[in-house]
Amino acid sequence: MGCVLATLLANRGHSVELFEKRPDMRRAQIGGGRSINLVLTNRGLSALERVGLREQVLELTVPVLGRMMHDLHGELTYQPYGKDDSECNYSVSRGMLNEFLLTAAEEAGVAIEFNAAVEDVDFDRRRLIFEEGRRSAEFDVLIGTDGAPSVVRKALVEKKGLEESVDFMDWGYKELLFPSGPDDSYLLEKNALHIWPRGSHFLMALANLDGSFTGTVYMPQTGPDSFESIDDQESLLAFFERHYGDATPLLGDFVDTFFEHPVGTLGTVRSAPWYWEDKVLLVGDAAHGIVPFFGQGLNSGFEDCLVLDDLLAQHEDFAQVFPRFFNARKPNTEAIADMALENAREMGEKVANPTFLLKKKVESLLEKHLGDIYRSRYAMVMYSHIPYAAAYAVGKRQKEILATLAEGLDRAQDVDLERARQLIEEKLVPLYDELDLNLEF
Ligand SMILES: Cc1cc2nc3c(=O)[nH]c(=O)nc-3n(C[C@H](O)[C@H](O)[C@H](O)COP(=O)(O)OP(=O)(O)OC[C@H]3O[C@@H](n4cnc5c(N)ncnc54)[C@H](O)[C@@H]3O)c2cc1C
Repeated sequence: MGCVLATLLANRGHSVELFEKRPDMRRAQIGGGRSINLVLTNRGLSALERVGLREQVLELTVPVLGRMMHDLHGELTYQPYGKDDSECNYSVSRGMLNEFLLTAAEEAGVAIEFNAAVEDVDFDRRRLIFEEGRRSAEFDVLIGTDGAPSVVRKALVEKKGLEESVDFMDWGYKELLFPSGPDDSYLLEKNALHIWPRGSHFLMALANLDGSFTGTVYMPQTGPDSFESIDDQESLLAFFERHYGDATPLLGDFVDTFFEHPVGTLGTVRSAPWYWEDKVLLVGDAAHGIVPFFGQGLNSGFEDCLVLDDLLAQHEDFAQVFPRFFNARKPNTEAIADMALENAREMGEKVANPTFLLKKKVESLLEKHLGDIYRSRYAMVMYSHIPYAAAYAVGKRQKEILATLAEGLDRAQDVDLERARQLIEEKLVPLYDELDLNLEF
């Protein structure tokens, strides 16, 4: 995300230097372990459009049109994501995206220094500190885009009284590769997010361009079915065969990879305010890291870039921009943080629950027949620019409406659409007016 922001700032005529602690990934092989693909949605794509890169990035992606659920017996259930195929998510390799954005930033005039790990910030002398103080670099304005474990945020906490909380989930994650088939063929449906929901843990897989899929298993760190309880080949294979039977043969020889990959931690970062005077600002995960269950961490960071760029177009100095940026983004990043935590339960447990599935089907019918007054929370988050806080507020009322409509219903197609229209007009339409929402997206 830092590269996109640096590009936007360079395009506005600022002289931008980017310090990156890792080596240049276009030249060095960087060890895996972190999520190697992710989904881009509308908010992220709009930021890429602003820097003229949307179409080129789309060429690096695989469209994901819906969710394919695998039950314990290997039976498949498919739910499309959007009202039609134009509403979809895009799976992209994290490495490819980073490499592409690094080059684009350089082409926009950003100077990038690699192997430059910022260790501390001397705010009063406006210097970044490297190599245990042996080296420093001066700044006029510093924007910390150094991710959830941000050194810039830590320095602001210690020296300037910024408030922060970092809440770790008891779940961790590991990535596993589903290799491609013969001639780079896809061995699972390519244009779907595959999910094996098993209550307290789940496996998911997203396609890469080369026929492979990146799988991610999410489960508790400790306890009965947990990373801790899987400590040798035998327990690993028994666990996978019991819970992910149809996926296991597709994972090839995954035992070594499983034990080599570290368990990733998942947490929510909340902080306030995200700025100090007109000198320092936090953006992206450094300010508001979230758990990955809505696929919005990077997308919301990209949306930060758009909001910041809009404010820079309106106001000359950073003293005006930084507080406005914080006030505009904070309620929305809080909302997506909460929705992402709620979704952890949905992905592990609820997607396999018949009542939940019935409500989802009813919701698709509402979107299809009453699309002028009803869009799902999922669509608002993924395919619109409706502020996250507004989507969250609308979503809460939608849950009540869906519960009322699904009561006593055996089949979604029997839903009473007249009653649905009445309920939506009574409970949702006034809220749209209050929140100034436009559902046409
Ligand atoms: C398993 C998983 C799946 C995810 N899936 C999705 C998804 O599908 N869609 C989505 O939108 N988001 C997803 N996310 C979230 C997404 O990865 C993050 O929100 C996003 O990467 C944050 O971008 P960022 O630029 O703020 O931080 P980062 O991506 O963490 O980048 C920070 C950069 O700063 C550098 N850096 C760090 N410290 C220093 C330092 N001290 N000095 C110099 N450089 C430093 C790092 O090397 C890195 O290049 C997922 C996250 C996880 C864990």
